[in-house]
Amino acid sequence: MDFSVRACERRGMLLLIPGPVTTRPEVRQALTRDLAPWDNEFRHFLTRVRERILRLAGGVEGVHATLPLQGCGHFITEAAVRTFLPPGGRILIPATGAYADHMIRLVREAGRVPISLPMGPTDTTDPQAVAAALAADPTLTHVGIVYSETGSGVIHDVQAVGAVVRAAGRRMIIDAVSAFGALPLDMSEQPEVDAAVFSTNKCLEALAGVAFAVARIDRLLACAGNAGSWSFDLSNVYDHAMRNGWGSFRFTPPAQLLAALDVALDYLDAEGQSARLARYTASARILYEGMRDLGLTPWLPASRQGPVIVVTHAPADPAWDLQAFVDALKLRGILISNFYNTPSPTFRVGCIGAITPGDMAGAVQAMDHVLRELGIKDRGAIQT
Ligand SMILES: *Cc1c(COP(=O)(O)O)cnc(C)c1O
Repeated sequence: MDFSVRACERRGMLLLIPGPVTTRPEVRQALTRDLAPWDNEFRHFLTRVRERILRLAGGVEGVHATLPLQGCGHFITEAAVRTFLPPGGRILIPATGAYADHMIRLVREAGRVPISLPMGPTDTTDPQAVAAALAADPTLTHVGIVYSETGSGVIHDVQAVGAVVRAAGRRMIIDAVSAFGALPLDMSEQPEVDAAVFSTNKCLEALAGVAFAVARIDRLLACAGNAGSWSFDLSNVYDHAMRNGWGSFRFTPPAQLLAALDVALDYLDAEGQSARLARYTASARILYEGMRDLGLTPWLPASRQGPVIVVTHAPADPAWDLQAFVDALKLRGILISNFYNTPSPTFRVGCIGAITPGDMAGAVQAMDHVLRELGIKDRGAIQT
């Protein structure tokens, strides 16, 4: 079997994973040029990309700054934690699932103190529980919240949680990695947010390798010196931009990926953020209902199913083998994750990226065929 990129393109391989997502060919086309990051043309271009990101986040010129960092979502999350919390600083993290666990680990290994707020694996974060935890522990300066918990598919109400954080006089960091570009974010309405962080390869429908924080300038200035890491110091990224211009990068940037991002932002502007959310929501609904119609059991109740990823219980049939399922779907031009992020066995299908609800209907059909092919008769949820 030829799994080369060229072969996948011929077959029209669909990446149904919640990042990196299926991208448009026009976005990938932007990688084909050599670019000099110090060139004035590139500086103008990067300045404009920063402004576009600031607008998307509802940031306010002079109040918020767009800070790019080479690397992935974990890197920018670590940078935000190191920048806005001093060593030993304490942050409350609602235990929404796998990505909250990742934030907890990043915080701990950075020498800050994560305090987990326990909750069920399919629950939404309860703002009153956050308020109570903050009231009970005045040493908690921050709340770290995952906006779209990619481990489960649940969307958390960052506006409602932010309101209680604001009322308690504390600060918030938002992991918006699988939310930004589709779910609403208005930094101008949420002064309690030190930073929202995200990467480019999820709802922005660009390629992986660069990440962003949109952060408050007053907090970046107040927190200078916290990070204990030059690479992961957002205050230093800001300071560098102030000294050298918004078109400058501290270290060699992935220039082509930024060029691809600019093209992807053109498509986001043309589509509109709410239309993009509606497209993802339609895809998620087709997938969720499709799984149920196939006799499978979605992980979430319908009321908590978000638009980013649909997680489904592994079928109980002894013939079930996730890797075999993934391989068989791949032969039909559909690539899904060969791992899961839930406490019991599931499989995950991403609904984001340059795909249509029609693609998703086709994917449901393909899954039905593959389940038959693999001899899976008992499609009920596996009991653990
Ligand atoms: C994808 C993701 C991340 C970070 O992923 P990277 O692999 O580091 O880019 C962080 N948080 C959430 C919610 C995610 O979906």
